[in-house]
Amino acid sequence: MEKFKTEMADHFLSLYEGNMRTLVYGDGKTDATLVMVGEAPGEQETIQGKPFVGKAGKNLTEFLTLSGLERKDLYITNTVKIRPTKISSAGRIVNRPPTKEEIQLFLPWLKREIRMIGPKCVCTLGNVPLKALLGNEYIIGDVHGQFIKKDDMIIYPMYHPASMIYNPALKSVYAEDVIRLGEWMRNNA
Ligand code: URA
Repeated sequence: MEKFKTEMADHFLSLYEGNMRTLVYGDGKTDATLVMVGEAPGEQETIQGKPFVGKAGKNLTEFLTLSGLERKDLYITNTVKIRPTKISSAGRIVNRPPTKEEIQLFLPWLKREIRMIGPKCVCTLGNVPLKALLGNEYIIGDVHGQFIKKDDMIIYPMYHPASMIYNPALKSVYAEDVIRLGEWMRNNA
């Protein structure tokens, strides 16, 4: 994993400038049976150097308790490992979604990272990792909560934990999906 991180840093730090030069690597057990993949780090993740430590991460950790899964037993990473930013109309640095080009640039690294860990299941959080790993035709609203076989991987799409901040109605769906994931992991991993 250290070699992977060094190679990724060498590759990307020459491509990016300024505040986009901080890479946030995956975090957790490097032989985990479950890998969770988010979109891209935000401000807190970039400051603390770990994925999902901000508001979305708090939501995720809270919901994980429903599943019987613990964060310390997983490996968590992002599709894109730099914080995509833009300048807001008020002149502040704010998050923006990663571009298609950024996703394609990071995708081979994500696949290599997943192969190194060799999990039983890859849980995608939101549309970005879902589309990156399965294809653009997949839509989270249609496939969340289903185990999908792709090559030698089992992919389990869930909504992004930040989506509940904007849409509280998703909380019960999220709870059901995370409980189903916990059951599957207990029976299959
Ligand atoms: N959202 C993500 O997708 N990843 C993070 O690490 C934090 C928020």
